[in-house]
Amino acid sequence: MSLDFTFSDEHEAVRDTVRRLCREELSPLVFDAEESETFPKQVFRRWGELGLLGVRYPEEDGGSGLDKVSDCIVREELSYMSQAFASSWSAHTHLGIWPIWKVGTESQKECFLKPALEGRKIAGFGLSEPDVGSNVRAMKTRAEKVDGGWRLHGSKMYITNAPIADFLLVAARTSPELRPDSISLFIVELPNPGFNISKLKKEGIRSSETGLIYIDNAFVPDDCLLGETLGTYPVIMESLSENRVGVAANALGMARAAFDAAVSYADERSVAGKRIGEYQAIGHKLAEMSTQIEAARWLVYYGAWRVDQGTLDSAAAARVKLFASETAVTVSEQAIRILGGAGIMREYPVGRIHRDSLVYVIGEGTSEIQKNMIARSLGFKV
Ligand SMILES: Cc1cc2nc3c(=O)[nH]c(=O)nc-3n(C[C@H](O)[C@H](O)[C@H](O)COP(=O)(O)OP(=O)(O)OC[C@H]3O[C@@H](n4cnc5c(N)ncnc54)[C@H](O)[C@@H]3O)c2cc1C
Repeated sequence: MSLDFTFSDEHEAVRDTVRRLCREELSPLVFDAEESETFPKQVFRRWGELGLLGVRYPEEDGGSGLDKVSDCIVREELSYMSQAFASSWSAHTHLGIWPIWKVGTESQKECFLKPALEGRKIAGFGLSEPDVGSNVRAMKTRAEKVDGGWRLHGSKMYITNAPIADFLLVAARTSPELRPDSISLFIVELPNPGFNISKLKKEGIRSSETGLIYIDNAFVPDDCLLGETLGTYPVIMESLSENRVGVAANALGMARAAFDAAVSYADERSVAGKRIGEYQAIGHKLAEMSTQIEAARWLVYYGAWRVDQGTLDSAAAARVKLFASETAVTVSEQAIRILGGAGIMREYPVGRIHRDSLVYVIGEGTSEIQKNMIARSLGFKV
């Protein structure tokens, strides 16, 4: 094993590109997007032009042919600017299309993967349901075989991008048994008369649009069954497991953003004749925050490197996600405290970052579920 974790020139170039894009084009959009709780859809085209939607996908499939480390760099930088933008990016570029890339037919790749990588179609992923979140196997949405296709019935909850998506990957049970091999994925083009999508009001990642979907007898043709094979549950699990390191990179970006805001405030704000960072209580908080961030950074990029080597197991992925997402919550809360009253004001980013950080101790598997996976890897049946 190599212990050389230096980023390559290519990695630094990716970071520079995303930073410049965020600074010059995206940052000015963030405040209004948050206030109006609306995602500026044109951003997808820009991401597509810059190759940022296909960072990890091979060039022959229309991607940029880079590695997981690069993917994490993009996530970290997008989240540093806005977790809402990063969440919409992630639901599209990973959850909504990775399974198509992995097992989709050539025509599914042509119709959905290619335009999604170019930002011409927006994707989302419908797994969670009103009654089914952590316990995915208990999924109730079902698909019935009919002449020429399938009829879908059920509901999906908290689906990122659903209100703005051109297509969704929807998980449904293709037979009543509660077995993993009875769950499959369907590519559903929107609008579909059987899909009724309403936008949810959220406390966190407000400008990332999230939907509740009622699915009533929705018809999808045969060629929309992903990979034209039944039982794609293992692909869902593999996708979620791999995305955990990515989500951890998002959390790292949020933690860094909150920390930088706190350092700058601690430097500028004086109370009773000295900068507040010189009060030991504040200086120690900053010291702890920087240490947590440094530990999260090592876990994230070591995890990304292991994904690239093909050696990351699901318990290791869970550890990375657990630590980094909890770090973002702790660091952003401490940042609010350091800013005092200003920390509560919308003019400063730390309140938004804290609200956003809570999404990632829940989404893509809660912290409790990550701990269950880790405990199971230690031989305990929790
Ligand atoms: C902003 C946002 C965006 C999202 N985007 C998507 C998306 O695009 N697609 C999608 O499919 N889903 C999405 N989700 C859903 C997300 O994945 C679920 O919210 C998450 O998996 C938790 O499910 P739940 O909300 O039903 O909570 P529940 O499963 O009901 O859990 C409630 C509580 O019980 C705990 N708990 C449950 N089971 C156990 C257990 N076995 N052991 C210990 N504790 C347990 C949980 O940790 C949690 O604290 C999104 C959620 C949010 C908030």
